[in-house]
Amino acid sequence: MKIGLFGGTFNPPHKGHERLLETFYEQIRPDQMLIVPTKRPVHKICEDLALDEERLEMCRLAFPAPQYTVSSVEIDRQSDSYTVYTVRSLLAEHPDAQIYLLMGSDMFLSFHKWYRHRELLDACTLCVASRCGADDLAALRSYAFSKLGVYVKGHVGKHILISEVQPLEISSTELRARLSNGADTSAYLAPAVEHYIQDRGMYGYRAK
Ligand code: ATP
Repeated sequence: MKIGLFGGTFNPPHKGHERLLETFYEQIRPDQMLIVPTKRPVHKICEDLALDEERLEMCRLAFPAPQYTVSSVEIDRQSDSYTVYTVRSLLAEHPDAQIYLLMGSDMFLSFHKWYRHRELLDACTLCVASRCGADDLAALRSYAFSKLGVYVKGHVGKHILISEVQPLEISSTELRARLSNGADTSAYLAPAVEHYIQDRGMYGYRAK
């Protein structure tokens, strides 16, 4: 059984996330693709964080079933929300599962600082979206070798798979700024997510 796992703050989820997911969905063809919003960002400080329930609902709107499954497993956890705990529980439930851990290149480049990153690397295939073309790919290969000891030939190394994703230069931070400035966000947000934000006046949303 193949399980894709894509974690993030999703504050809010946007089309850059969608593109990454679609790229790897086509490549891996998982039996299940889990979207896991984090309770609190472990790797960064995040102001203006929407409520857990709101981020879960926006993910459900952005990444619909049955192709995607939005999971509250990290939000519901009492202890710190580390990816390795989620992977352990998935493996306890499905001992034969092959787990594909999806992430953008920015997250990958700090992977050696993740909690129990060696265990994660042994247990999963890291699916990394290279977002900026050739330079980015070279930097990712060099990082994999120097920090993780994995030689990546072309796009593939032991437990690492790099895929070039058509870049969509947008981040949730930028989107929150656009929403509060009244700038157009339709190119970056799924319509249902945009409506959800507007209805609730989230992120200081101002009508254009
Ligand atoms: P923020 O701006 O609040 O830091 P973000 O846009 O980076 O948020 P996250 O929810 O933190 O979004 O990211 C979840 C995952 O999606 C990470 O692995 C990140 O690398 C990846 N990602 C974020 N934006 C893009 C994008 N535009 N294209 C491809 N991958 C992306």
